[in-house]
Amino acid sequence: MPRTFKIGHAEITSLLDGDLDAALDKVPDPVDRAAATRLIAAAGGDKALTMDCNAFLLHRADGPVLIDAGTGTMMHNRLGHLHARLAETGVSHADIRAIYLTHVHKDHFGGLVDDAGAAMFPNAEIVLHEVEADFWFDTPPEYMSERARGTLHLNDKAFRPYLDRIRRVPEGGGEGGIAARLAPGHTPGHTAWVIDTGDAPIIAWGDVVHLAALHLPRPETAMVYDLDPKTAGATRKAMLEWVASTGAIVAAAHLDHPGIGRLQRKDAGYSFVPLP
Ligand SMILES: [Zn+2]
Repeated sequence: MPRTFKIGHAEITSLLDGDLDAALDKVPDPVDRAAATRLIAAAGGDKALTMDCNAFLLHRADGPVLIDAGTGTMMHNRLGHLHARLAETGVSHADIRAIYLTHVHKDHFGGLVDDAGAAMFPNAEIVLHEVEADFWFDTPPEYMSERARGTLHLNDKAFRPYLDRIRRVPEGGGEGGIAARLAPGHTPGHTAWVIDTGDAPIIAWGDVVHLAALHLPRPETAMVYDLDPKTAGATRKAMLEWVASTGAIVAAAHLDHPGIGRLQRKDAGYSFVPLP
């Protein structure tokens, strides 16, 4: 049964879609490969290279909304379990009124559709930061990197049934206590959704951190998943410091499920302290 956390006046449930394996060769230069290897080994080796994939259900006064939608059938069979986890909460797909995407990558949007490409959420609008939407939907493919271009066919499949209900919001935009905050680098418009709780805010930060064992002690470490590694590193550094210094609560896509907790400063980096 998925766990629900009450934080101020907000109620958030973490939904585990599954897990996937990263590899150290996904950590590019200029990162010190030897240091990365040491950090991963110290954190348990292969275990530290396995990333959970969490999405979040937010119970709002005007109806439930999701932050990210899992992988659906777009990856392997250790993933794609968001739909079953959602059902366990008693919230139906038809109840979901909006899906706030942190970014346009298949492990965050794949669950929008079934294997045949039909919409899983008949009544939901898709909310995206305008910078992210402009990049993926309006940029001519020839202006994209090969890596970005390589996933366009999946975007096409996932968003096709939602084309008349995609809403682009500007920086700070959103409603019902959810606001967009640009966290660029992983993708151009990668977004942290900041959720007002009346107390410490919750920040659903998407892929600011992939591998806790690496990115928390060494925030500047990029992954090849980051379309712009330098910007992603700068964003990560700034956001980790903001979270640690404000006491904000993180809802993280790729930290160990449920992925909800606070950051503490530790040595030159940070450690994650899950909420009890
Ligand atoms: Zn991603």
